[in-house]
Amino acid sequence: MMKVHELETDIKLTNNDKKKLKDKMHKFKSFSKEKTKKICKLCKNEVQGFANSHTIPQSVLKRLTVNGKLYDMNTILNTDYAKKVKGIKESETFNCICDKCENLFSEYENGDLWVKLNDNSLRDRVLLEIKVKNILQKINIREELLRLYNGGLKELEVNRLLLNNYVLREQNEVKIIEAQGFKKLNEIDFVDWNNELNHYRKFLINKNSNCKGLFVIKYMKKLDYVLPIALQEDEYYMHDTKWCPLNDVYDLKQSHKIKALSVCIFPQENSTLILMFVENNCRTYNDLILQFDKMSLEEQLKWLTFYTFSYTQGYCLSNKVDISHLEGIKRVCTINENLVIGPYETERKIDIQINNRKRIFDMGFENVFSKEFRLDA
Ligand SMILES: [Zn+2]
Repeated sequence: MMKVHELETDIKLTNNDKKKLKDKMHKFKSFSKEKTKKICKLCKNEVQGFANSHTIPQSVLKRLTVNGKLYDMNTILNTDYAKKVKGIKESETFNCICDKCENLFSEYENGDLWVKLNDNSLRDRVLLEIKVKNILQKINIREELLRLYNGGLKELEVNRLLLNNYVLREQNEVKIIEAQGFKKLNEIDFVDWNNELNHYRKFLINKNSNCKGLFVIKYMKKLDYVLPIALQEDEYYMHDTKWCPLNDVYDLKQSHKIKALSVCIFPQENSTLILMFVENNCRTYNDLILQFDKMSLEEQLKWLTFYTFSYTQGYCLSNKVDISHLEGIKRVCTINENLVIGPYETERKIDIQINNRKRIFDMGFENVFSKEFRLDA
């Protein structure tokens, strides 16, 4: 029986292969973009060009950088596939809504978010804006993936698995399964997310609509120091802090719905806001939050560090951080990198995943969310 970590050497490309693949992908990407009609995902109008939309607000990103440059997972892993250092304007951006619709997100992107989240009349609107941005980003990434998947294989004449591996890294994708399952999963998620978007866009477009109670905040904390990391993403954690399964991302049955936890880590002027919320009917993370409530702040921060670096690829890290000292974090990040899984039949894939995660958690890692790493020291 093969284990995930034994597959790490499964795909080895020479530097020349990598370069060739990267060039081909680049060409194909620009080609597929040109051919597509531009319809704004929110107002549904055909537009000349899309806005450069950010998930993490630019004001937050600016706090992390000394010269406009930021680190991300590719910097930590020193990967050859993608840019290792990005500018603010290319960090966690997507292009699928028009400039006019981009202005619908002004509530969460401006002003003091902590004050707004504590204000009954503003809170729901702020959560709605964050949620819709997250959905738009997911859809945007998946659309590109599906386009590449459907057309790319023939165009590029590259091995299917290599293509997936490349695309998924490049596109900051977390859930990776073998090629066939990958396509199916993409299509399932795609339908679900478009339904979600259709549901929430009505509330978003009409500023006076009543969005009370659409979401429930599960965790909200203000640290009295500035973290070197920012994040805004819908997460699908597979396990809680006792390693019990939460979402089985490998279960492709239509009836099995995985549930998102919307996570924000927003460094502010002298503090950091950490926020987690769910849709009002979601119970998936109740146990996890109960476990958090029983922990010390330090333990909570350790888990947040682990979840962030092992699940998400969409975080931005300050370029003031000396990453040569982050050996443990690097190990945690490789959980994401080595998710391409072969044809296991003997064991549930979710169990393999969770065991692998636990193994790496137990090896230890730097607690990047602790005071030791504060930017405002
Ligand atoms: Zn629009």
